[in-house]
Amino acid sequence: MNTRKDNVDLICSIGELAGLFENSSSLENFLQNVVSIVAYHMRAAVCSVYLYDEEKQELVLTATQGLSELSVGQVRLKLGEGLTGVALKELRPIREGSGSRNPNYKFIPGIYEEKFEAFLAVPILRGLSRVGVLVLQDPVTDYFDENDTKALLAIAAQLASTIENAKLLMALHRIRTDLEAEKAPAVPAEELRFIKGKAGARGYAVGHPTVFSIGGEDFLQESEFTRDITGGLEDFQYALSRTEQQLEELQTKMEKRLADVASMIFSAHLLIVKDPKFSGAMIELIKLGSTARDAIVAVIKQYIELFAGSKNPRLREKVQDVKDLGHRLLRNLYRDEEDNADYAGHVIIAGELLPSDVLKLSAQNAEGIILVGGAETAHVTLLAKSLELPLVLTNEERVFQINPSRRILIDGDHGNIYVDPERAVIDQFRQMEEDQKEAEAVAANMAETNETADGKRVELLANINMLSELKVARQLRAEGIGLYRSEFPFIVRTSFPSEEEQYRVYRTLVEKMEGMEITFRTLDVGGDKALSYFPGKQENNPFLGLRAIRFSLRYRDVFEHQLRAVLRAGHDANLRIMFPLVSSIDDYLEARSVVEDCIAKLTEEGIPHITHPRIGVMIELPAVVEIADELAREVDFLSIGGNDLVQYILAVDRTNEQMSELYQSHHPAVLRALKKVADAARRHKKSLSFCGEMAADPRMLPFLLGIGIHRLSIEPRKIPGIHNAVRSYSLKDCRKLAKQLLAMSRLRDIEQALNDFHAIVRA
Ligand code: PEP
Ligand code: MG
Repeated sequence: MNTRKDNVDLICSIGELAGLFENSSSLENFLQNVVSIVAYHMRAAVCSVYLYDEEKQELVLTATQGLSELSVGQVRLKLGEGLTGVALKELRPIREGSGSRNPNYKFIPGIYEEKFEAFLAVPILRGLSRVGVLVLQDPVTDYFDENDTKALLAIAAQLASTIENAKLLMALHRIRTDLEAEKAPAVPAEELRFIKGKAGARGYAVGHPTVFSIGGEDFLQESEFTRDITGGLEDFQYALSRTEQQLEELQTKMEKRLADVASMIFSAHLLIVKDPKFSGAMIELIKLGSTARDAIVAVIKQYIELFAGSKNPRLREKVQDVKDLGHRLLRNLYRDEEDNADYAGHVIIAGELLPSDVLKLSAQNAEGIILVGGAETAHVTLLAKSLELPLVLTNEERVFQINPSRRILIDGDHGNIYVDPERAVIDQFRQMEEDQKEAEAVAANMAETNETADGKRVELLANINMLSELKVARQLRAEGIGLYRSEFPFIVRTSFPSEEEQYRVYRTLVEKMEGMEITFRTLDVGGDKALSYFPGKQENNPFLGLRAIRFSLRYRDVFEHQLRAVLRAGHDANLRIMFPLVSSIDDYLEARSVVEDCIAKLTEEGIPHITHPRIGVMIELPAVVEIADELAREVDFLSIGGNDLVQYILAVDRTNEQMSELYQSHHPAVLRALKKVADAARRHKKSLSFCGEMAADPRMLPFLLGIGIHRLSIEPRKIPGIHNAVRSYSLKDCRKLAKQLLAMSRLRDIEQALNDFHAIVRA
């Protein structure tokens, strides 16, 4: 081992890289600082950074310590060209005792690297996208060892996100425009009193409508900051530092509350507010005679224009962050301290929302959300549910025009929107909420086990999206976690969480469940759950595209990181691993072999992990219903994902508001498919559960019980209701009902039979 090098120390100082960036005047300058630090700690004669130009598909030498300074910006390598190009092409580190002996070595005249024989290059990756390559060279042959590779990989990982953020900001500085955004006056929509929408996330909310849009035109629409103020430089400095402090507090608060998903959700705000060019532009205007207010407004508008006009969707997403920042600065300028609760008293109306927006809105105390248009809603809705943020979906575009001075009430349980509701309506909602809380308190003391009226034991487990829901799940006596949707920490972040980050989340999950069974579903992204940072191809039919297990099998390293993290976290747990959207036995076996490989590697590395997790599949596709029998023979367990299964059997997009009437869980084809799966599981004596929303629908429940599904995984808050429903049915009647329903071919008849059954039980 090479003891001269200072790897540990180096990794520590690299943690300070982001700080380095703040003090740098350009990306190049920042990288120059980085290469000097790395070369110094690694005692290497040369350290260079090559950045990848995606458009031209070439690497450009951007900073170097040790090679000719004149080569910066001049040396360009194609992907796969030279050892550096190979490292990026094949996404792997390359270490050579003597670089020139490698057949891929490329001699570049004029940069004087001939004398540096020892060579070590690692790719800089952000998720799976190529950012660049970090290279070390030294005259002493065989100078770098395995530890150096590890250290350099750790540095590259740290560098990636800083470089990307830096690139975004630098791109902004290059394009400046002083286009003034026009004010769009709010159109009073007096005729709107009541709108029937669709239930999204439960609860009710009252507040003033606030439009949340990624277009820049409505900044300052509310004319709330038109009061005369003669704010000068000092007032501006106060507003700036107070804003920075508030954002840091907000971030810390979120991290405490939602450790698994809140990682740096205010990073863009913070990065901009700390950027000296941003505040510098405002200071300049103030010095030229502008008031602080006008300076803030002008620069914020410029930034909004820049972001909104960008071709890069990730930059466009930042418009709302800039607007937030502008409002925050102005509030602080006016010393309106209630700013801490940005959206308190407001119901947000949005045409599109990212999962991270939902988190931010929750952190900023929004009362509720109206989502208009209904595209890509499934996970936004699930997230709102987990955050207990009432949400209603509607297609009524006129909600955007409701005057902000009016008040609206949204009822997330029933999907209703009331405009300027009477006092009595609001009181009624308050009362209902109190009644519900009381009912929950009673339910929390639910006696006995879950069983039907005639004594059949039914297990009630919880579907969990975020760790914050575990408390309620435990309180309401969930018997385990039947579905952990592991994608949530992924979809709200700005880059792939590392193995370590994931490990911490999963470990908390395991510890909080104290030995109870956890069914961990591997990453289910794609479809409506796009990762904003993943540079995937636009798909015409994302629900039929690179989703769930298909994504994991295509991007093995993402899959392996996740599996390693969960296997490690589960070393002492009662853990099951479940693959989503499996379409064949081959899919299952392939995914299973990746788990086995990870287990073998962890054993080899001597890292504690679970050695024999049970491994199963979700039944979500008609394809696997057809082969349920053979599949049941192979797997350790099965779980029916009814939400997707219904969507795929009926070819009805589960997120398409306009098709919701055709999304019928009681369709005869669905009922027969469920029966087939239940029979297969029984025949092969394999555990079967149901984790779609149908399991929490008291109308459908008797059918599920009747065909032999006795493990149900549902939203935690629905446990008491379903517990009571289970107790009200007798298994014998449920079986009879199931038999009748399975013989029916008309939807109409099935509906009638379900309603009749329900009415009899309730009577
Ligand atoms: C399902 O499809 O039923 C399911 C539980 O998975 P998700 O809702 O996360 O797609
Ligand atoms: Mg699903």
